[in-house]
Amino acid sequence: MQDSLRIVLDIQELDMKMIRLMRVRKERRKELEQIADLRQELHAQITEKSQEIENLSKNIQAMETKIQETSAKIKKLESQQSSIKKVDEFNALTQEMTAAERERISLEQRTSDLVDKRVTEEDILQKIKDSLKNSEESSLALEKEIQASIQLINEEGQALRAERDALATQADPEILRIYDRLLHNKKDRVIVPIENRTCSGCHITLTAQHENLVRKGENIIFCEHCSRIHYWQDSEALEGSSVATRRRRRRAATT
Ligand SMILES: [Zn+2]
Repeated sequence: MQDSLRIVLDIQELDMKMIRLMRVRKERRKELEQIADLRQELHAQITEKSQEIENLSKNIQAMETKIQETSAKIKKLESQQSSIKKVDEFNALTQEMTAAERERISLEQRTSDLVDKRVTEEDILQKIKDSLKNSEESSLALEKEIQASIQLINEEGQALRAERDALATQADPEILRIYDRLLHNKKDRVIVPIENRTCSGCHITLTAQHENLVRKGENIIFCEHCSRIHYWQDSEALEGSSVATRRRRRRAATT
C-alpha cells in the first residue's frame, strides 16, 4: 500500500504546485481586469460628460433662437407702435414691449449661465481625458509585464501537466481515482502522514487502533474526521520520493 501511495504522493506534490500556480495566475488576471475596469470607467465618464455638454449646447442653441425671436417681436411691436394713434392701444403695445424686453433679458441671463456651465463641464471632460491618457501610458508597461508572467505560468503549468500525466500512467488507477475526487473537494493535500498520532491534514488526534491499521499498510485508511488518506511515515519506504526529500529538508532546516 505504501508503495502504491508513493507515486500518488509525487502526483500530489505536482498538483500542489499546480494549485499554487493557478492561484497566482488568477491574481494576475484580476490585476489585468482592474486595469481594464479603470479604463472602462474613464471611458464611460467621458461618454457621459460629452453627452452632458452636447445637451447643454442644444439648450444654448434653443435659447439663442428664442432670444432672436423675442428681439424680432420687439422690433415688430416698435414698428406697429409708430403707426398707432389711439392712446389705449399705444399703452397696451408699450406693456407688451416691456414684457418682451423683460423676457429677453431673462433669456440672455439663462443662456449666459448655461454657457458658464458648459465651460466648467468642458474643463472636467478635459481632465478625465488627461487622466485616461496618463493611466493608459502608465499601465501599458505593467500590463505587458503581467501578460508575460501569465505566459510563463502557462508554460510552467504545461510542463507540470506533462510530468503529472506521465506519473499517472504508473499509478494505481483506483487510488488515483479516489485521490482525484478528494483533491477536487479539498484543493489541498489529501494523502497525509500521521504525526504524533494526529492527522496532519485536520490535526485531530487519532486512536491507536487507527494508527496500527495505517502502519500495517494493507488497505487505504481514511481519516474519520476529514476523509483524507493516511500513510505511515516510514522514511525507508518513502526514500527517494519528494515527500522524503521535503522531510529531510525540513529536518535540516530545524537542526
Ligand atoms: Zn483528518
